[in-house]
Formats: sequence, C-alpha cells, structure tokens
Amino acid sequence: MDKKVFVTKPSIPTLDEYIDEIKDIFDSHQLTNFGPKHNLLKKKLEEYFDVKHVSLFVNGHSALECAIDVFDFSKGSEIITTPFTFVSTTNAIVRCGMKPVFCDINENDYTIDVSKIEGLITDKTVAIIPVHVYGNVCNVEEIDRIAKKHNLKVIYDAAHVFGVKYKDKSIASYGDISMFSFHATKVFNTIEGGCLCFSDDNKADKLEQLKDFGIVDAESVKYIGGNAKMNELQAAMGICNLRHIDQWIKDRKAVVEHYRKRLSGVEGIKLSKIQSDVTSNYAYLPVVFENYKYTRDEIFNKLSEKAIYARKYFYPLTYELECYRDRKVDCPLAHKISQNVLTLPLYPDIDKEIIDTICDIILK
Ligand SMILES: *Cc1c(COP(=O)(O)O)cnc(C)c1O
Repeated sequence: MDKKVFVTKPSIPTLDEYIDEIKDIFDSHQLTNFGPKHNLLKKKLEEYFDVKHVSLFVNGHSALECAIDVFDFSKGSEIITTPFTFVSTTNAIVRCGMKPVFCDINENDYTIDVSKIEGLITDKTVAIIPVHVYGNVCNVEEIDRIAKKHNLKVIYDAAHVFGVKYKDKSIASYGDISMFSFHATKVFNTIEGGCLCFSDDNKADKLEQLKDFGIVDAESVKYIGGNAKMNELQAAMGICNLRHIDQWIKDRKAVVEHYRKRLSGVEGIKLSKIQSDVTSNYAYLPVVFENYKYTRDEIFNKLSEKAIYARKYFYPLTYELECYRDRKVDCPLAHKISQNVLTLPLYPDIDKEIIDTICDIILK
C-alpha cells in the first residue's frame, strides 16, 4: 500500500456544497456571534437530538467546562468519573476547580462500573461525569437512580455518541446535560465544535452567556465567562454534514460488520459486546488482545510498518498521564484494558481491501 492509513478520516461535504453554504456568510460579513448559520444549526440539532435545548460551542472541551461551571459547585467539590477516556474529561473537571474521583470501568463495554459508584460518594460529591466511551452507552438507568438517591448532577461526556439511540430515545435526553464533540475526527464534525444538550429552561440563557464572556447585553456582564462561541463557518460545515450523517453511519456499520466477520470468534481477540436496545453510530472499533499470540504493542508496530496507524485509545489512563501522576488511584480493570486495547482504522469510505489487509496482519 502506498498511502498512509490513519485511525480516522474526517467526513466532509463536497467543496461545491460547502461553498454554496457559505455564500451568504460572504455576502453578510457576519462571521460569528450567534449568526444565521449558528441559529439554523442549533435548530436542526435540537430536532436531530430530539431535545429541548442545544447550546453550540467552539469545541467539545469548552462545552464540557461550561457544563460544569453552569451548576456553580463550590470549589474543591468531588466529581466521580472514569480514567478510561480522552484527557479532556479529566482536564475539564480539574480546570473547573473540582476534584476528579476515579471509578473503574466494566469489562463488557468499558463504560463506568455502576456497582462501584456508590462506594466513592462522600459528602463532597456533587456530580458524576460518565463517558459513553467508543459510542457504547453507559448504564443510564442505574446512573440516574444513584444520582437521584444522592442528589447528584449527571453530566455525560457524550463526545462519542452522536446519533446513538437507547431504547428508541435519543441518547442526548439522559442526564442533566450531555456534551457532544464535533471535532474533525468524530462521527459528525463542524471542523472543530461541540454542543451541550439539556432540558432545563433555566440553564439556556446562562450557557449562552457563559460562552460569551458572561455578557448579558452591551452594559451588563453577569458571569466571569470565557469565549467559546461557534462561528459561522463551523456552523455551515455542520449544516452540510448533517445532510450526510445518516448515510455515513450506514457506511460505518458496513465497515464494522466486515471487521467483526473477520475478527470475531478468534481466541485471544475481544471485540466490544453488542449492546441490546442500542442503535449504534459505529464510532470506533476497539479490539482487546488478551493472551493472543501477539501483544497489542506487537500488532500496533506491525501495522505501523505497513503505514497503518491504529491508536492505543485509551492508553495511558488519564490518571497515569504526567500531569496527574501524583494522584494515588487504582482502577485495575481500566488499567488492564488500557494496556491491551487497540482502536482500528474506521471511517465511512475506508477501502474494504484496507480492512482485509489489517485483519490479515492481525491474524497471520
Ligand atoms: C473528542 C473528545 C472530547 C473533546 O472534544 P473536542 O471537541 O475535541 O474539544 C472530550 N471527551 C472525549 C471522550 C472525546 O473523545
């Protein structure tokens, strides 16, 4: 193969379609600050997610920080979360002045182990931030039960679950707030971008203000907000991509099925369990190598030699990263999965031949 293959490839409209969408922007000169493209995408996403409120952001990480900020938790409060995620989840908690309390994950779908949450709750706990990792849905019912019982807020890191449904209901409708990332590498992108989905009317204005310096109007600033607004060119990209998302998810499904056909039933190779009641978006293809003839790192290296760049998502765990290493935590299962998992290349128009090459290298 002469071309490099990466774990993902951003899905984009044709150049003509994008140019057509941004013409109005060049006519009006309105580049940002809640313009017509922003407002249209917001409306379309409220329909798509089937939620009352969508608040658009310049990226998913800033959205997550604002989701934490909007509750006004006192500084030093504890938030229960998992370390088996992109570093953004932990960083957002710490940057908002909260203390992350790490809960282990479960072995079936790598989301938070709900049986371990209550043991971590103290009088300082204010919220849970579970991660729908790889597009797998957390045990939302049990999380909801625990949160209600202990009066905790639930903010989902839903960066991986764009388009996912659970029991025929939009995944965005669970918890107090869900954060979606629209980064270039995600199932749906606005180049960079993200949003919060929620139903509480009282949060709508505050979130719009928090991402715009806390400004209420020309002479009034109510909150010490930052700047995290989605601009018009991002929103235009989102409007285009939303036209194709159903097809892209269908194409992803075919890719995942092809991988599964080749790799399932092989001793030592573990694919995530297919979740019941979940309409998947086929966001990632994590494969765990346990007592397989090759280690995860050996397979990673062999693929790299052929210019195929799989990724060790999520390794290291966030608490094992340099900036968090002083924290004493132990999540043995997350640690084990993190040591053995490899996420394989997956995007809607990936060549079937590339999938076969990857599987041949793994199985040979
Ligand atoms: C991508 C991602 C984020 C951050 O989103 P950005 O849009 O890149 O800021 C947060 N959490 C998880 C799990 C992610 O994968």
